[in-house]
Amino acid sequence: MLKTAWSSCYNHPLVEGHRFPMIKYDLIKEQLLYEAVLNETHFFEPGIANIAEIQLCHDKDYLNKLINQCLNAAEIRRIGFPLTQSLVDREFKIMQGTIDCCAHAIQYGAAMNIAGGTHHAFSDKGEGFCLLNDFAIATQILLKHKKASKIAIIDLDVHQGNGTASIFKKNSAVFTFSMHGKNNFPFKKEVSSLDIELADGIKDNEYLEKLEFGLKMVFEQPHLEFVFYQSGVDILETDKLGKLAISQEACTLRDKMVYESCIKMKIPVVTAMGGGYSSKISDIVNAHCNTFKVAIDTFF
Ligand SMILES: [Zn+2]
Repeated sequence: MLKTAWSSCYNHPLVEGHRFPMIKYDLIKEQLLYEAVLNETHFFEPGIANIAEIQLCHDKDYLNKLINQCLNAAEIRRIGFPLTQSLVDREFKIMQGTIDCCAHAIQYGAAMNIAGGTHHAFSDKGEGFCLLNDFAIATQILLKHKKASKIAIIDLDVHQGNGTASIFKKNSAVFTFSMHGKNNFPFKKEVSSLDIELADGIKDNEYLEKLEFGLKMVFEQPHLEFVFYQSGVDILETDKLGKLAISQEACTLRDKMVYESCIKMKIPVVTAMGGGYSSKISDIVNAHCNTFKVAIDTFF
């Protein structure tokens, strides 16, 4: 069964006109139900992640400032959201969603968080709409409880997983792979275990070839036991921020390549949605729903 973390607070009413399309979290669920890809029993509402677990990854001072909302103006600008208590609460739920997904993935092979993939959050600062780093927190928990000895984080959002790369740069138990736009945010890149930079305007075939090479390197890692997959759909040609020219079909093939590698190697995978900024919300929702369909076809 494809367990999927979803909470009504994922669809947060940001200030009007803010460019981050949070409405997608409701629409993805509605579309999956409408098309009978999933039913209500597939969804679970996560609780609030506990501080001790978050501290396995995040700096105590930063967490205190976040919880007590005393980040300074520059720190809030870096995050890009108008920071409120409900947004902080929402982030803690998203973190727990990904943490819970790990147990479901170990049981069923795959699990999804409709939100998450907050890869720009560093240990001690938030950035680019990300307050806390869900994959990094869940990775630290898996390692601590010896649920996996080697973990890969595959980040195919168009933006580099800079926070993730920074958090694990000295941790040989974690292989971080980011394939992202060379000329896109963040403009100061961190060093992942493997970075593949994409030129503006790259098309389907070249993209998929580079992905094949990257996945080969990931799955050649000895003793790999768990995978996180950030399936951002801001690689699409319709995306306002992405600068790439990838079709919906190739985006779906991308997901298929990741999942087929996981199932072939019998490695559980947790997916989080990441970014997506196409002008038409239906382009975003379709691409994310396709990721669910491929996961179901592959694992169930
Ligand atoms: Zn992105």
